[in-house]
This record gives sequence, C-alpha cells and structure tokens, in this order.
Amino acid sequence: MTNATPSAIALSLARVRTSIAEACARARRDPSSVQLVAVSKLHPASSIRAAHEAGQRDFGENYVQELASKHAELASLDAIRWHVIGHLQRNKARDVVGRASLVHTVDSERLGVALDRACHEIDRAQLPVLVQVNVGGEAQKSGCEPDALGALLEALSALPRIAVRGLMTVPPHTDDPAESRPFFEALARLRDAHGGARSLPELSMGMTHDLPFAIEAGATIVRVGTAIFGDRPPRP
Ligand SMILES: *Cc1c(COP(=O)(O)O)cnc(C)c1O
Repeated sequence: MTNATPSAIALSLARVRTSIAEACARARRDPSSVQLVAVSKLHPASSIRAAHEAGQRDFGENYVQELASKHAELASLDAIRWHVIGHLQRNKARDVVGRASLVHTVDSERLGVALDRACHEIDRAQLPVLVQVNVGGEAQKSGCEPDALGALLEALSALPRIAVRGLMTVPPHTDDPAESRPFFEALARLRDAHGGARSLPELSMGMTHDLPFAIEAGATIVRVGTAIFGDRPPRP
C-alpha cells in the first residue's frame, strides 16, 4: 500500500484515532492525554499533505536529510510540527534544532551538549527533548541504559537550552504485541523513579502493532506509521 491515496490515508487516520480512543476508554484515560505522531519516514510529501488535510499536525521523521527536505517543501502547511524519532548523530544537531518541535532520541550527554550549542548558534531559546531509554537492554539498539538514566538527566538539566520533557522507548521487536507490555511498564516505572510525571510528563511509546498496550501503560505520545500511511518503501 505504498503511496496510499489521500482518502485511504484519511480513513486510516480515523481508524487509528478510534483505536487510541478505545484504548483510552479501557484504561480510563482522557483521549486528549495521548498525542498521535504520524510517522512519515520514507513516505512522500503528498502523503503528509493528505494526513494534514485530515487534521493531523504532528509528524515523525527518522532521517535528518529527509526531515530537512520535507520541512522545506511543506513549510506552508498550517501549524505542522516535526518530531525527530530516529537515532541522531552529533554532527547533525544543527540541522534539527531549527526544524524539530520535539527530539525523542537524546541518549547521551554529548548529544545534549551538541543540541544545546546548536540552539545557541541559531538563537533558539529552548529545545524540548525526550531521553531515549533502552529498556530491552538490546546491544544493537540506541538509548541510554536504565541504570545510567539518573546521571544523564542530571547532566542534561545543566544545559540551559535543553528542556527534558520525558522518556521514549522502542521495545524489542516481537510477533506478539502483548510482549511489549512489560517494556512499556518498565519505562513508566523509570519515570516514577526519576521525579514522576511532574518532572517528566511525556512517555513516548507504542507504534502500529502495540499501541493499545502502550496507552494502557501510560503513553502520552504514540508514534504510528504503517497503520496510517501503509507499508514503507525500502530505504534507498
Ligand atoms: C518507524 C518508527 C515508528 C513507526 O513504526 P510503525 O510500525 O510503522 O508504526 C515508530 N517509532 C520509531 C522510533 C520508528 O523508527
């Protein structure tokens, strides 16, 4: 379903909003407490326009170059917001701070320092970020180790232009989405152990296949691609 039509995207978006509302009802949560980020990586700008036309404002991108070109091409879309959800290299900091409304993937002090410096250079007062945590302890995955979270939060709090708003995770891939649940619960517990919702209001977790479990565990931001835009074309 690559290059889904505008009406297919509007319909899929409505279905995703419904499943968010249903999960919120089961968890006795207010649906407005869950923000949907439409993950548009590798999908064309036309798909983003279609989702925007259907009322979607927040979009997630993984690759800085792709973010930069879509940001420029779609700059006229009303109130559009870009989320950086992919692993970020320090030398790309400058390319994201002028474009992102939220960076979900800060996982080291060095990256925080690079973003803080880049904000200074472009005179951006503050960049909201999330700290990515590797709750599954997977060797190949980015994210800070749970044991190192306290020290990282402390270091980031010293950076004047970086505002840590919460935590983000990508659990290990499983065929059974219910297996993501303990990882989502682990992220929520880590948040509680580090100041709770008052200091870390956002929990970014849950994707197409496991979003109900994430919402039940307390997600405030879900990142959904395939269920909205269809299958992704391969990365060129
Ligand atoms: C691609 C991606 C998503 C969206 O995944 P879907 O399964 O298509 O919903 C969410 N989060 C991150 C970090 C991603 O890289």
